[in-house]
Amino acid sequence: MKRRPSTRFVAAYLREIGIDFIPAPPRGRAPAERPAPGGAAAETLEDIRKELAACRGCALCGGRRTVVFGVGNPKARLMFVGEGPGEDEDRQGEPFVGAAGRRLNQWIGRIGLSRGDVYIANIVKCRPPGNRAPLPPEAQACLPYLKRQIRAIRPEVICTLGSVALTFLLDTADKITRSRGTWRSFEEIPVLPTYHPAYILRNAGRESEVFADFDEIARRLGLT
Ligand code: URA
Repeated sequence: MKRRPSTRFVAAYLREIGIDFIPAPPRGRAPAERPAPGGAAAETLEDIRKELAACRGCALCGGRRTVVFGVGNPKARLMFVGEGPGEDEDRQGEPFVGAAGRRLNQWIGRIGLSRGDVYIANIVKCRPPGNRAPLPPEAQACLPYLKRQIRAIRPEVICTLGSVALTFLLDTADKITRSRGTWRSFEEIPVLPTYHPAYILRNAGRESEVFADFDEIARRLGLT
């Protein structure tokens, strides 16, 4: 009997022949019921994680302790995208575990969700030295992995945290101060940019704007 090719093999083959995105089916059905369109094997987060573990796509791989892939519910309705791992995240292999992460957890709690309900990932998966922002070539090298994570999860809403996530995920030069709280989209998924929690730790006076953005997300998800 012939063996079926693995999901990872099929996904790699499709990418090889230029198909790196298969449109999502109509939204609003239970995640477990979402079929893979056209009968093609949908790529899972684990497929992507395994591939990323060996990534040497940019210079950041030289300084990493761990690849910080992403964390949370693989069927999350809400996904957050940050900038890149800091020292704590690099050591623990999980995004947003330091002070900024604790503030993000509070914001998630405010709309009645917990960290385990959502999915959290970053633009780059390896720590930039000295916690600097990722350089454009680093972000561009890593972006295909994030896009594949988004396609595997197919969240109903994405919230970008800070200017780096806004710039690279949405491929825009728009400023975060003007963009936050305004709906955008990525492959037909609604995206709401807000401030990065690390920025709010330094600028507490702006946190009310983040609260408004989270309230807007909660409304969009029918949580309020
Ligand atoms: N800041 C980020 O943008 N991502 C993390 O994972 C941690 C801090």
